[in-house]
Amino acid sequence: MGLVSMDFLLRDAQAENYAVGQFNVNGFEWFEGVLTAAEAEHSPVILGVSDRLVDYLGGFRAIFQTATAYMNRFEVTIPCVLHLDHAHTFERCAEAVDAGFTSVMIDGSHLPFEENVKLTSRVVEYAHAHQVSVEGEVGRVGGVEDGEASEMRNADPDECVEFVSRTGVDALAAALGSVHGFYENPQIDFASLRSIARRVSTPLVLHGGSGISGESLAEAIRSGYSKVNVNTDCLIAWRDAIKCFLEDHPHIYEPYTILHKGSEAIYQVVRLKIQEFGSSRKAEHFLLQKNG
Ligand SMILES: [Zn+2]
Repeated sequence: MGLVSMDFLLRDAQAENYAVGQFNVNGFEWFEGVLTAAEAEHSPVILGVSDRLVDYLGGFRAIFQTATAYMNRFEVTIPCVLHLDHAHTFERCAEAVDAGFTSVMIDGSHLPFEENVKLTSRVVEYAHAHQVSVEGEVGRVGGVEDGEASEMRNADPDECVEFVSRTGVDALAAALGSVHGFYENPQIDFASLRSIARRVSTPLVLHGGSGISGESLAEAIRSGYSKVNVNTDCLIAWRDAIKCFLEDHPHIYEPYTILHKGSEAIYQVVRLKIQEFGSSRKAEHFLLQKNG
């Protein structure tokens, strides 16, 4: 199906009570691990690229070309989104759109509300003119992401309602107690989540989906999250697999052989997460829509 924008995938997830996973790319092994896992599960998938890693990964254009090359190599048939995660400026979002990304997140959550609305609206106007979806953020996800710490602030339901109606975003990251990085079972404010989901028709996004128990995750999806972002769980699986392999094989030094163990570990995590999110076999919805 190739690269698509995120909006119609999340609408389907919202209507059918499952969530689409966003898995952040940290190196080449992620393209293989994530894409082949999602294909095996017949699930739609979102390849997330944190703005802070874009240069490390070779820039927007190189990332787009790598993603499409891997999709061709593995004959990917599922709908796949290439999404810029946590961009802080209009210019970065525009660069991603121009390079072929099919979705962007403009994170103005550190700004005063009015400025967040203004910045996000500007990104929406540009992205929508290019059929690219936009995610915005209200409240503040806590924890540490890519070395940057942020103070947690829960999204206010009234602010969410006003934010989506004024900006026209396709997805809303409503921070309600989840955290970036490695944390054991953070407490999500389910009452506020349900109240926001009742009042806001825009699909909601859970950031910091790692470390949340299967039970809490199921409740979070039932209560209104249609997209769940996962990064730390894959990072830890990657690190552990490589560490273990090197300890068992001290004389192997070929990067391909070593790093491929990381890719296999990512594959296992992504398949498991997709099953937990309930998005297995949902790719068939879109293939049917496309054909008729
Ligand atoms: Zn995030």
